[in-house]
Amino acid sequence: MHELSICRSVADIVTRHAAGRRVTRVQLRVGALRQVVPDTLIYCWELAHADRPEAGVLAGSELAVESVPAAVRCRACGAHNELAVPVLRCAACGAADVDLVSGEEFLVTSFEVATDAAEA
Ligand SMILES: [Zn+2]
Repeated sequence: MHELSICRSVADIVTRHAAGRRVTRVQLRVGALRQVVPDTLIYCWELAHADRPEAGVLAGSELAVESVPAAVRCRACGAHNELAVPVLRCAACGAADVDLVSGEEFLVTSFEVATDAAEA
């Protein structure tokens, strides 16, 4: 499953950066053009680390997914528009000569660790 492998990658990244601290919440930013379903990501999060002891710092953690709409900047008229459908075309003038501004993000923007372990 696409989402499960994504969750495993995110779990790897966060586990590495947590350096043994217990993680309570992971914030993810996903562009609309990535074709991943936020709800499925959240569902897969538990599965992605449950069977891996090295990812034990993630036990009980929450995954929060922020969806970023696809947006383009038009080279013909300069308009900046968000795309309702994944067709790369300017909504202001109809030109297809546009630069993709957002929609392909896939970032772990932050994660929170339990304060009781922060001093360890
Ligand atoms: Zn335009």
